[in-house]
Amino acid sequence: MNKLIIANWKMHYGPVKAGAWIRAFRRERLPKELDIGVAVPHVSLPAARSSLGRAGVPFLGAQNVFWENEGSYTGEIGPEMLTEFGYVFSLVGHSERRKYLGETDEMVAKKVVTLQKEGISPVICVGETAAEHKAGKAKVVVRRQVTAALKKGAVAGGKAPLMFAYEPIWAIGSGKACPPDEAKAMHDVIRNAIEKKFSSKAAEETRILYGGSVNKQTVIEYMTTTGVDGVLVGGASLDPREFGLLCRAALPA
Ligand code: PEP
Repeated sequence: MNKLIIANWKMHYGPVKAGAWIRAFRRERLPKELDIGVAVPHVSLPAARSSLGRAGVPFLGAQNVFWENEGSYTGEIGPEMLTEFGYVFSLVGHSERRKYLGETDEMVAKKVVTLQKEGISPVICVGETAAEHKAGKAKVVVRRQVTAALKKGAVAGGKAPLMFAYEPIWAIGSGKACPPDEAKAMHDVIRNAIEKKFSSKAAEETRILYGGSVNKQTVIEYMTTTGVDGVLVGGASLDPREFGLLCRAALPA
C-alpha cells in the first residue's frame, strides 16, 4: 500500500482560492508511489472538484460531516451530499472540532458509521492534550478514543476503509512535533486497539497517519518510521508549492 499524505487546510480558502490552490498543485511533479489527499472546507468542494478534473490527484476529502444523511439539522452537511462531489474521505473528530465545537467520542462513532455506509473513508483523529501527555496518560487516552470511535458499528475493510490520524494536541500548529519514536509507540497503541476490536489483518491494513507540525524538513523521518503510514499536514499545506516540496521530500531518494 502506498504511503498517504493528507493536507488539512482547516478554515482556509473559499472557492476562488481553493480552485487556484488545486490548479497550482496539479503542476507539481509528484512521486507516483505516494497517495495524496486534500481536506477542504465544504463550501470549496465544487470549485476544488472542477479544478481537479478527472485526474483525481489529489484525492478530495471533507474536514467534517454530520452523522445523518438528511433531516432537521440546520447548517449541517450529511455524508450522502458529499458523495455527489466525489469525496473519498472525511476527517472525523479533529481536535479543533472536539475543542471548539464540543465534538464527543460518541458523535465521532456515529459519524464513522454513516460515512462508511456512504462509501467515504473516515480519517479518525485522536490524540492527547499537553496535560495528559505530561501526566503520562497519552496511551490510556488514545486507546479510549479509538475504542469509542469503533463502538457503534464501524467495519474493517470494505469500500470505505477506516483510517486513523494520531495527532497529539500539543504538537498541532505548535512547531513542537512529536519525536518519531514516540509517534511509533502511539501508533502501536492504536493498532493494538484495532486488532482487539477486529483482527490482526484489519490492524495491519488500517492506515495510521501522524499529524502535528510536520514540514518538508521533517516529513521523511515520519514516512520512514515503521508503523507510520503517512502524515496529516496542516500549516505546511497552505502553500501549494511548499506542499509539493513536502510531498517530494516524503520518500527516500
Ligand atoms: C492538523 O491540523 O491536523 C495539523 C496536523 O496541523 P499542523 O500541521 O499545522 O500542526
